[in-house]
Amino acid sequence: MLVLKRNQLSSEDLIKAEHVARKVAGGKINELGLDFNVWKWTRPELYGIIVGVFSQLGLLHVLGVSQSQLLDFIVDIDRGYLDSPYHSFLHAADVFIVGYNLINYSHVRSYLIDLDLIALLIGALCHDIGHPGLNNLYQVNAKTEVAQRYKNESVLEKLSCEETLKLLTKHDLLKSVRSKSKVEIHECEQSVYVQNAILKCIMSTDMSVHFGLIEQFTTVVDILTISPTCDEFPTENQAAANDHCPLPQSEHRQIICNVLLHAADISNTVRPWELCKRWSDVILDEFFYQGDMEKLHHLPVSPNMDREHSNQTDISLKFGDFVVKPFFEVLADFCTEVQPLLTNLCENRARWLTLGNTEPPRRSPLTSSNARRLSVPAGTLDIPDYPSLPSVLRRHSTDVQRKPRRHHLLSSIEFARTAGEGSRSGSISIPPAISEVDSEDECEEKLIHIQVENATRRSNRRAFSLDHTLILAKKKRFDEAVCAPSTLHEVTSELENHS
Ligand SMILES: [Zn+2]
Repeated sequence: MLVLKRNQLSSEDLIKAEHVARKVAGGKINELGLDFNVWKWTRPELYGIIVGVFSQLGLLHVLGVSQSQLLDFIVDIDRGYLDSPYHSFLHAADVFIVGYNLINYSHVRSYLIDLDLIALLIGALCHDIGHPGLNNLYQVNAKTEVAQRYKNESVLEKLSCEETLKLLTKHDLLKSVRSKSKVEIHECEQSVYVQNAILKCIMSTDMSVHFGLIEQFTTVVDILTISPTCDEFPTENQAAANDHCPLPQSEHRQIICNVLLHAADISNTVRPWELCKRWSDVILDEFFYQGDMEKLHHLPVSPNMDREHSNQTDISLKFGDFVVKPFFEVLADFCTEVQPLLTNLCENRARWLTLGNTEPPRRSPLTSSNARRLSVPAGTLDIPDYPSLPSVLRRHSTDVQRKPRRHHLLSSIEFARTAGEGSRSGSISIPPAISEVDSEDECEEKLIHIQVENATRRSNRRAFSLDHTLILAKKKRFDEAVCAPSTLHEVTSELENHS
């Protein structure tokens, strides 16, 4: 029977938590995949799931704590979360389960040591603790006490780090950490190692480091492609021999943990549609609440947060196109197990478009200046224009040798550019998300829209079905013509016939 020292749960709740923990530890619950739905579980059941995951991965043993001690810590984490529509303990539990999936069902785990897994999972649980439902931009603009305390930088992430440290200390959670792995870390340094790794994981959830994280990750991936595997080391276990060795450099393992946590944190749009939509509903509540507060206090209203001028589909598509897709594509290059998530993203995109209450994502209201600002669930992101994108994304976008199908697409864009310029004066710009299309297969009809923009009529752009696009093309109204990669050929032929 679980017993708590610092918190109180009813005996009924303790029994429920223990029951679920035992089932999860024994691998007897099948609902912990990427279709995990936090709303289907009671609080004690969620606690039990988290405890059970630690047991199942053998991490309770590494931590040197009992199930009761871990449960006590988890209940306190829950109490550290406020009742925000999105940034609540439910989001933490969701990110935890996605993080668990990323390490448990991919080969990535073999590059890490147990201490990294602990850091990643505790980081997932604690990464938004104390979040008030008003993001960093609000904190800075409103000159809140917490913004001043952290000098306007990564305000809420630093707040979460501080709260996490308090709880780790209160529960002595890392005091008895002991891990044996191929990467030697002296026993007396293991506790500090995990604590620092947790804090670095939490700091990496700040959207301001989003692009930097991708750069760092590609560096690690480059190293992995030339590093030896465990095949080259004598081992008693053949299964283990086929595994990879943990990366010897702690900085590299940390980058992998940071990337996995950030991926989990922005994973709403790559989940099955019902979950994608529901998380979008709650983030919208939180965004519009912030917008209301900004109006109330005469602050600039953050992007996507004005309930009178924003809509859900537009916000979701921008988030998927500009933030999630490029990030998961880089991750999928390294970790092929992630590929189905990109398929989900494409399918969800189609679902959003069928809702039909918006135009596809486009530059407007993003400005034509160097930076475009986007509010996303994890914070605010400044998106550089295509030429300013990190080199990894540019490389990813234009590597036509490696992915030949892109060539057709890029040629088509080039044709559209020529056709547009030939018929009207004005510039044509291709948003980064469009340039990064990997293949026509993954983008079914109407999933990714190619925008042929004309500087003279930018405000008049609309999304159209293929039929509409063909009509527009025939009329040479290139500034309004929009189509999907899979229909580009058809559209460009139409353009050729009528040019
Ligand atoms: Zn988060």
